[in-house]
Parts: sequence; structure tokens; C-alpha cells
Amino acid sequence: MSSLVLRNARLVFPHRGVVDGEVGISDGRIDAVGRDLARGDREIDLHGALLGPGIVDPHTHIGIYRPAADDARTESESAVRGGVTTMVTYWRVGEPYTDGLVPYGRAFPEFRAQLEGRMHADFAVNLGMLTRAHLAEVPELVQQHGVTTLKYFAHYEGRADIGKDLDSGYFYSLAEAVARLRSEVPAVRLSVHSEDPFIVREATDRVKRAGGNDLEAFRRSRPEVAEAVAVARLGETALATGAPVYLPHVSSALGYARAAEYVGRGADLTIETSLHYLTLTTAAPAGVLAKVNPAVRRSEDVETLWTALAHGGLRCVGSDHASNSRAEKAELWSAKPAFAGTGLLLPLLFEEGVVRRRVLAPESLWGILAENNAKAHGLFPRKGALVPGADADLVVLEKLSTPRTITAASVHSAADYSPYEGREIHYAPSRTFLRGELVADASGVLVAGRGEYLSRPLTAG
Ligand SMILES: [Zn+2]
Repeated sequence: MSSLVLRNARLVFPHRGVVDGEVGISDGRIDAVGRDLARGDREIDLHGALLGPGIVDPHTHIGIYRPAADDARTESESAVRGGVTTMVTYWRVGEPYTDGLVPYGRAFPEFRAQLEGRMHADFAVNLGMLTRAHLAEVPELVQQHGVTTLKYFAHYEGRADIGKDLDSGYFYSLAEAVARLRSEVPAVRLSVHSEDPFIVREATDRVKRAGGNDLEAFRRSRPEVAEAVAVARLGETALATGAPVYLPHVSSALGYARAAEYVGRGADLTIETSLHYLTLTTAAPAGVLAKVNPAVRRSEDVETLWTALAHGGLRCVGSDHASNSRAEKAELWSAKPAFAGTGLLLPLLFEEGVVRRRVLAPESLWGILAENNAKAHGLFPRKGALVPGADADLVVLEKLSTPRTITAASVHSAADYSPYEGREIHYAPSRTFLRGELVADASGVLVAGRGEYLSRPLTAG
């Protein structure tokens, strides 16, 4: 017998469809999906609300601007209240995280310990590779620590503090190291922040000299060509080495076109964009508060990304979530990049893609945010699937009786602003289950710190 049965739901099967039905849960897993399930120990009537797998946010930054232990609590609250049950968080050594570019052998377990017992969502970690010593650690990180996604920072090349070892040669060797592991660990993947720093440096000097200080100036300081040039090197390197690669936060039509071209040529390349490149432009009323790297673009780029998302070329969407404050974003050039977004990944993309633009069906949206995001990160099918045996990570998305206006407070992050303030949404997550336990509802987090570290790849077992 199921310990919990969720009844009277509109079940969202990623990529497949939406049908009326019920979900049974026991021991933290889904044990039945269908109609007329036997009575459970407990039952919840969902009154016809949408019920889908919990959202996997493939791109977050816990501990980037605040201590990781603090961020873990506040930012995973934003996540679970927004229907995100798995956060992939990017971390690296060096300032501002650690003193010096130390090896991960010791630093990674310490970081992981900061998050354990504090996170409300399950979490996986992506580690940034910065030194020759890190290259030697790749097999151990993947095979012993379950870190199947590693990051390369093209935009740190030339930086005296953390970029001394980084160049095309290092990148090539890292891609080779990842490619060598793929027969044993098919889920392994190299994630590459793709902006050419030398073009950015040149363009930034020009824009600053001309006195630019708004979002449009920032876009010109990190031009689309900087993304495309870095993507081209990524594509060639992926083809030459056979490395499975991941392009996070593609921002521009030009960058996307170049990436799609390499997919067409046979590169094993998965393309991600971020919530903001689908929902904000340089004309956003939020102004400098919407500063992020890469920069938000113009409306024609936004339209291209929506078309790519609807047609499946763009596989994944993340939030690139980072929590900072309004005071830290007072002036363009000194403002800390990025903002809170994980709590809006589901409701705002649903609003834009399903309700307003009508280019995505609910099952397509869950196909991207649950299934595709999980698959690209070695988490599927324990995460991202509505099938017996999967973790019972579930989100209920309810139609609101009156539209809700997004405020900084409604994002439930430590951030005291949101670049989305003033936007209206018609649907909101009302209940979030993590491994069968109701961890959040509209009143807040109900059970704290239940998130577990996910050593990848996960298996169905
Ligand atoms: Zn990021």
C-alpha cells in the first residue's frame, strides 16, 4: 500500500502529455501512477491542479556572494517554494570561495559539508577546473566524488589571479581528460562558460571611454561575437576530442547559431539558456539590477532563443541563480553580476511560454525543466521523471484565482530585489514534495534541511 496518494491531479508527463490521474508514493519513491489507485495511508486531493516531476535547476551558485552555509538555507528555500527539487550548484576554489587555488581533494568535501543538513532541495555539484593540479584530479572527482560535470572558464583566461593556467591548450587537455572517462561514466560532461575575454576587454574599454552606464552599454561591452568566438573553439575542441560538452547560459542568437552548427556537425553538445535570456532585454525597467554575465540581449535574440526552445535545439534552461543585494548593484561597472532566479524558473517560464506566448505545452516545459535538465546532468531517471521507481520529487502548479505580481519578497531569496518585480503570473507552485515528503507549500518551508548530496550518475535502482 502507498503511504501517500495524490488524487485528482492533472499529471504532467515530460514530453508526453497531460492526463487526469493519481500518484502513489512509498519509501520516498513513486510506486504507482495511474487511475483508481488503492487507498493510501494518507491522501491529498489536488482539485485538478497540475502535478509534475520536481524541477531540476541545472545552474545555480550557492555561496558565491555570501557564506555557503547561509546561502544553502535561504536560496534553497527560494528553490523549493518555486518547485525546484534538485539544484546543480557551480563551485570552484580561489577567491571568493577559498584562499588560493587549492586542490579539490580536501576543498570539495568541506564545501559539501557546508550544504548538507542545510539545503531544502537535493543538490549536485559542478566544479571549476583552474589549475594543472586540478586536471590530475578529474578521474577521482568523477569516479569517487560523483561530480560528473566539470567547468571550464574561457572568460578567466588572461586573469592574473585565477586564470594563470587557462588557455586553449589547457582547455584541450581538460576536454581530452573528460573524453577518456566517457566509456566508464557516460554521464560525464564538460561545461564551458563561453565568452572570449580578450574581445570583452577590448569592447569594455571602448564602452567605458564613451561613458556608457546602462544595460545596453553592458551588452556592447560583452558583445555577441565574444560568445560566438568562444563557442566556435568549444565546438572544434568537442569534435576533435570527442568530449561530451555543455554550453551553459547561451545568451545570443549568434552564439546559439554557432552552437547549433556544431551539433549539426556531430559534436556531443547540449545547449542551455537561462531564464533571463528568455524574459529580459536591455530595455528592462530593472536596469543595472539585471546585470549578468553574459549580458542580457535585445528582443530579436530573445525571439530566436524562444524559437530554438520550442523546436528542441535549445535543450535546457537554468536560472544561473546568485543572491546579492540591491546595494551591491548600485553602479553598472562595479555591480555584482547575476541575481536570484531559481524560484521563478517554473512559474515565470510557464507564464511566458505556456500562458502568454503559447509556444510550449505544459509537458514540453516539464520536458525541458525536468527531463532534459536531469538527463544532461546524470540525474535521470531518478530525477525528472513521473514513473514508478523515480524519486517522489513532485510539484503542484495551481492556477491562481487572481494574477500575482512578482515582488522581491515573493521570490523568497535573501536578495532584496528582483529584476522581475512587477511581472504578473497566473500560475504558482503550491506544494513541493522531496522524496515523498511535503517540504514546502504556500506558507513556506515545512521540513527544513532534507536535501541530500547527489553523487552522480544516479541510477534507477
Ligand atoms: Zn553561472
